[in-house]
Amino acid sequence: YLSADFGSLKQGDEKNVPSTYIDYGYNAEEKMIAITFDDGPYTPNSYKIMELFEKYDGHATFFLLGSRIEGDEQTLIDMLDRGHQVASHSYDHPNFNDMTVEEVKKQLDDTSKEIERATGYNGIIQVRPPYGAIMETTRRKLDYTFINWSIDTEDWLSRNPQSICDITLQYAEDGDIVLMHELYETTVEALNCVLPKLKEQGYKFVTVKELLEAKGNDVKFGQLYFDAN
Ligand code: ZN
Repeated sequence: YLSADFGSLKQGDEKNVPSTYIDYGYNAEEKMIAITFDDGPYTPNSYKIMELFEKYDGHATFFLLGSRIEGDEQTLIDMLDRGHQVASHSYDHPNFNDMTVEEVKKQLDDTSKEIERATGYNGIIQVRPPYGAIMETTRRKLDYTFINWSIDTEDWLSRNPQSICDITLQYAEDGDIVLMHELYETTVEALNCVLPKLKEQGYKFVTVKELLEAKGNDVKFGQLYFDAN
């Protein structure tokens, strides 16, 4: 389905219309948001989060620590099987600004290898740097795409489901990337508020990869994204 004004919004650039529609199944004018979970896997919450996204017909992105994967391999397999995005949050959460390019590269490659060992997945792995910290000179030298966020729910700080929900709803806009963490039950509780309310407003819950591609970003290694706009 393409709305009547879809073509005119694209200024008659016919090439963009079919690729956006056919490749991703999304109308680029639809409201989309990517909700992301750092610091896992934490299996008790991973499954609760996946079930809530399934209930509201969407997908999440999990930025995982390589050092936490051993023993939770099946969780990662299930994330991929259910269409969620498995991504990297470094091996053990150092501050990249205190490290050489080679040291950062090792953190990222070791995590990619752990994900591949656990799941067999060896495709593109996007990276959220710990603390959102990465120097431009460093990231430009690495074969990874870096993802920060446009909405910080401060879920780790407040541990308050209502506050997490209020912040998300107050700032949510089409193309946003929302920062949450996988470790807290209060974050899972907040999703019971966030997901139905955003869905009511017409949002689709997509992975970061889907969001960037559906909104027409030419995603390249060495770049840092805060949202899809
Ligand atoms: Zn973190």
